[in-house]
Amino acid sequence: FTRRSISSNLLRAVTRNSHTLAFLETSGSTLTPASLSALTAAKEIKKPITALLVGPNAKDAASSVAEFEGIEKVLIQTDKRYEHYLPEQITPLVVSLLQDSSKDISSFIIPASAVGKSVLPRSAAILDIQPLSDIIKVVDPSTFVRPTYAGNALLTVKSTDKIIMTSVRGSAFPPADEKSASPAPIEEIAAVDTDCKTVFISEQLMKSDKPDLSSAKIVVSGGRALKDKATFDSLLNPLAEKLGAAIGASRAAVDDGYCDNSLQVGQTGKIIAPDLYIAIGISGAIQHLAGMKDSKVIVAINKDEEAPIFKIADVGLVGDIYSIIPELTEKL
Ligand code: FAD
Repeated sequence: FTRRSISSNLLRAVTRNSHTLAFLETSGSTLTPASLSALTAAKEIKKPITALLVGPNAKDAASSVAEFEGIEKVLIQTDKRYEHYLPEQITPLVVSLLQDSSKDISSFIIPASAVGKSVLPRSAAILDIQPLSDIIKVVDPSTFVRPTYAGNALLTVKSTDKIIMTSVRGSAFPPADEKSASPAPIEEIAAVDTDCKTVFISEQLMKSDKPDLSSAKIVVSGGRALKDKATFDSLLNPLAEKLGAAIGASRAAVDDGYCDNSLQVGQTGKIIAPDLYIAIGISGAIQHLAGMKDSKVIVAINKDEEAPIFKIADVGLVGDIYSIIPELTEKL
């Protein structure tokens, strides 16, 4: 062996054993559903996983995260500056870890949540890397499938970047649940000082006693046919309660003020894949289908038998929602 070939063999060996850095979001002392799905995707990359948790909750969550199969180390940074996941604060921390050669990271994964959608492009731009957003399948450690044209086509993309940076569509991967017999070590890392001028002021969260739309197993979704807010609530709430379902909506229903825009399903709303999706008075525009077409069973109720939603529905009911929904609720 020449000196050069020895060093390139060594380099290859190091690359093979290199790590995936998984940025995981917490809610209280547990991981968010989107982070559990991102962890499943990280495992499919088949490299040891270094999990990164930030904010004051990180310490509480760390011991349970350390028990997940595939995680080799948990890094935590508990400074208050990370409490609200400001991308201006998180990005320098992520970049510093990716640039730290002692951490030996060759893949980075983050949920395609509001946080991930902001942190991934910022970090990738600083490192001059092409990020791969919203992946729905891991083909091999550098090749991924991601949707394009509002989910009407799928791209298989291969990255040749030195660090492969991806965000993960939560609905495409089941939540990680396998635990390991020996928990991974937890290491506290230093915060990274920045001249960040963004300050968290307040947040207004929708309070609801219903399941969360992004992770619910059953979703009852209403469209323009619901006419107004009072009708939307009075028709959908009893049905959702009977089924233990979350409520969703088309953009037309949101734009006309029937419900909060956090309930919007579709290209510019939430992308979900529940076990059962009931579309009530929704025509089935492609932008709506982009958010729900991967649902396991789709039921459509519409008075127009030509409505496009029937093309993807497993069960179609042609009729007036004002008689069908009360009858269905009553029978349930
Ligand atoms: P409509 O298309 O008006 O359909 C109402 C349906 O109700 C009709 O099919 C009608 O037959 C039926 N109906 C009426 N009365 C009754 C009755 N009494 N009983 C039974 N059925 C009845 N849309 C989204 O949903 N999500 C998105 O994220 C989204 N993003 C978009 C992004 C872009 C860039 C653009 C351009 C559009 C986007 N849209 C999105 C809008 C989308 O194109 C449609 O306009 C919207 O989805 C229509 O909503 P709808 O089906 O509720 O209304």
